[in-house]
Amino acid sequence: MRSQILRQLRRLHSYRASDPIEEELRGWNYTTPPIKPRRYFSLSMGDVAYRYCDTKRDVYLRKVLKVSPETNSYLALGSSVHAILSYLSQEIVKLSSYKAWEILEILLRKAERVTKDLCPNFYKYCLNVYKAFLVDFISDFSDSTGFLPIISEFKVDGSPLGLSSKLSIDAITQMSLVLEAKVGNSQDFHKLALAGYALALESAVELPIDFGALLYINGVNKESPEFKVEVYYISSDLRKMFLDYRDEVIDLIAEGKDPGVSLNCSQSCPFLSYCKKVSK
Ligand code: SF4
Repeated sequence: MRSQILRQLRRLHSYRASDPIEEELRGWNYTTPPIKPRRYFSLSMGDVAYRYCDTKRDVYLRKVLKVSPETNSYLALGSSVHAILSYLSQEIVKLSSYKAWEILEILLRKAERVTKDLCPNFYKYCLNVYKAFLVDFISDFSDSTGFLPIISEFKVDGSPLGLSSKLSIDAITQMSLVLEAKVGNSQDFHKLALAGYALALESAVELPIDFGALLYINGVNKESPEFKVEVYYISSDLRKMFLDYRDEVIDLIAEGKDPGVSLNCSQSCPFLSYCKKVSK
């Protein structure tokens, strides 16, 4: 994973040099617009950045009508894979005084038990994800830099930006790069979450976060899991787009008006049965 990230970062340095981030779009400027929100609704990153529902009715249901989302197999798989990523990165940090091959041995011994606990419904696939992640993490850790790949589920207070006070970033690498792991296909709007997390982190730590990465985990119907990393420069345009989306969602909640049912409902939407029932 590390080599993929480094290769893509090298390509992005020239973008950053030719298109530097406007100062007013740094997260630490949260007392003034455009970073300062019109209202504070404790929005989740999904509320703002994700477009699984193209009318944003999912946000309306959650925030205005207070409908609880239902869980489904797509969401369960996503959280299981996140749990494995989190477990492994935490264990590697705990075991960091051991030699790399010792860590590998210890964690391989636990693979089946941990996978059964964290991912009982997709055991075979998750066991392969566990092993593939482990080998990847260990190879990063054992190189000459002693690079620790991930701090998983990093908590940050997004409230100065009108976001939740309990945002959870999937990972921050030692290269000050925010990382979001996704199970499923690549979507253009996923990179907006990187902008949101970078802004929230900048407001909390007063340090610039210029790059982010999306880690896609796929291959659930294949023999072995597939990992793909996409690294992005968190440019002024990406930041502006995130802030525009945030402001649209704030207006939607403040007006409290149903934006209507989407014509392209995803089968993985946690409100599918609610919307079907209501539109009958
Ligand atoms: S079921 Fe369709 S309309 Fe309802 S929230 Fe989901 S995507 Fe949106």
